[in-house]
Amino acid sequence: MLQDLNYGRLENEFRNITAKEEDRIFCFDKGNILLKREADDTLTLPKLRQMPEGAAPRYLFRMQGENYFLWTDAAPAVPEAGYDYEPARQLRQLKSKDICYGIMTGWHLYNWYRVNRICGCCGTETVHDDKERMLRCPNCGNMIFPRISPAVIVGVTNGERLLLSKYAGRAYTHFSLIAGYTEIGETLEQTVQREVMEEAGLKVKNIRYYKSQPWGVDGNILMGFYCDVDGSDEIHIDENELAMADWYPRNALPAQDDGISLTREMIRVFGEGKEPR
Ligand SMILES: [Zn+2]
Repeated sequence: MLQDLNYGRLENEFRNITAKEEDRIFCFDKGNILLKREADDTLTLPKLRQMPEGAAPRYLFRMQGENYFLWTDAAPAVPEAGYDYEPARQLRQLKSKDICYGIMTGWHLYNWYRVNRICGCCGTETVHDDKERMLRCPNCGNMIFPRISPAVIVGVTNGERLLLSKYAGRAYTHFSLIAGYTEIGETLEQTVQREVMEEAGLKVKNIRYYKSQPWGVDGNILMGFYCDVDGSDEIHIDENELAMADWYPRNALPAQDDGISLTREMIRVFGEGKEPR
C-alpha cells in the first residue's frame, strides 16, 4: 500500500528547525503542487535554493534522509524550466508512486495549517507552538492539533463472494468497497454496520479488522474491515451514493491491486482467500 512504498517510513516527529538551501519544499497553490516530472514519471520537489529568497518555510517531516518543508508564502511563479504546478490529487495515478505518500501527507498538513490561521473560538490569529505540532490562540488559549478524520472501508463477504460497488457521480469509476466516515458518538463497528445498511441495504455480522491506511488527500485515517452478510443478501443501493453494487465470486474479481490503496489490496486479499475469518 501507499505507506509501504520505497520512501519508507515517514519521520513525522515535530522539529522546530529552519529550512536550509538543500531542503525540499512543498509548494501548493490551491489543488496544485510545484514539482518536476521526469521522463520516467518520477517526481522531484524543488529545493529551497531554487525558490524566491526571504521566505520562512515550515518544517513538515523527513523522508529518505531529506527534510521537507511547507512553503507558507504566496505561491511563486515556476522557478525554472522543467518545473510546473500539477494537480496533487492525480499524482497517485502515475507510474512512479514513491513520493506520493509524502505529497498526500504534505497536502493534509497544508490544508490543516491553511484553515487554522484564525482561532475558531475568538477570531484571534493563531501562533505556532515551538514544542509540538500545534497551533495556539494567544488570546483565549485554544489549542488546535492536526485533524485526522476516521473512516472505514468494508469488504462485505457472502460465502465465496464479495460485495463490489461503483460510486455515483464521481470521477473515480473503478470498482470499490463500501466506505464512509465515522460519525460522532459512533464506534467503528457501528460505522461499518451503518454504512453497509445505508449504501447497500444489508445487515452484517462477524466484523473483523484488517489494516489501516493514512489517506492525506482527504484528511483521513482509513480502517479496513471484513464482515459477513447477515440474513438476506438482496442488495438495495442508495442511488445518491452508488451507481451499482453486486456480489462477485472470489475467483473472478474484476479489480487489480494498484499497490496504493487499501481498497484494492482488500479486494486482492479476498481473491486469494487470505482475508481474516
Ligand atoms: Zn482564541
